[in-house]
Amino acid sequence: MTSLALAAGAFVAMEAVRSLAHRFLMHGVGMVWHRSHHVPTGDRFERNDLFPLCFSAVGVAVFAIATTGPAVAPLFWVGVGITAYGALYLFVHEVYIHERLPVRLPRLAYLAWLREAHRVHHRFGGEPYGMLLPLVSRELRSRAAAGGVDPLARTSRAGRSGGGAGGGGGDVRAARRRSTRDARMRL
Ligand SMILES: [Zn+2]
Ligand SMILES: [Zn+2]
Repeated sequence: MTSLALAAGAFVAMEAVRSLAHRFLMHGVGMVWHRSHHVPTGDRFERNDLFPLCFSAVGVAVFAIATTGPAVAPLFWVGVGITAYGALYLFVHEVYIHERLPVRLPRLAYLAWLREAHRVHHRFGGEPYGMLLPLVSRELRSRAAAGGVDPLARTSRAGRSGGGAGGGGGDVRAARRRSTRDARMRL
C-alpha cells in the first residue's frame, strides 16, 4: 500500500512540478528550446524535444539512487510514479494533441478536454501551463472560442502532410504561415 501511495503521490506531484517547469523554466530561460514548439519549423524533431530527455534523466537518477541502499529503496516507487506521468504526458501531448505519430485514436471526452485547454496555451502563449489537469478560466475559454487560426493544426503531423483532419494542404500551409507569424509577434 505504501508503495502504491508513493507512486500515486509522485504521479500527482508531477503535474504541479511540470506546470511550474513549463511556466518558469520553459517559458523563461528555456524559451530558447521551447520556442521551437510554439513556432514550429516543420522539421520532424523540435529543439523542444530536448526537454523530455532532460526530465527523463531525473527519473533515471531517482531509480539509480533507490538502488544505493535499503533506506532509500522506497524511492523506486517514486520513480515509478514519475515514469508513469512522463509516459502519459508523452501520449497526451505528443501523440494525441499534436498528432506526431500517424495513428488513429479514440476521441474520449477527457482527452478532448485536455486538447481544448492546450489549444488555449498555444493560442495565447500563457495559461494553462498544466497538462493532465489544466485549469482554464471561463474568460480565457471564451476568448479562445472567439475564432481565428487553429494553433494546433500547424503542429500536427496530419497538418504538416496536408492530408489529415487539418483539411486541405494549401489551406493548412497558409494558416500555418499566418499562425506562425502571429506566434512570433507574441513570443
Ligand atoms: Zn503543445
Ligand atoms: Zn509552452
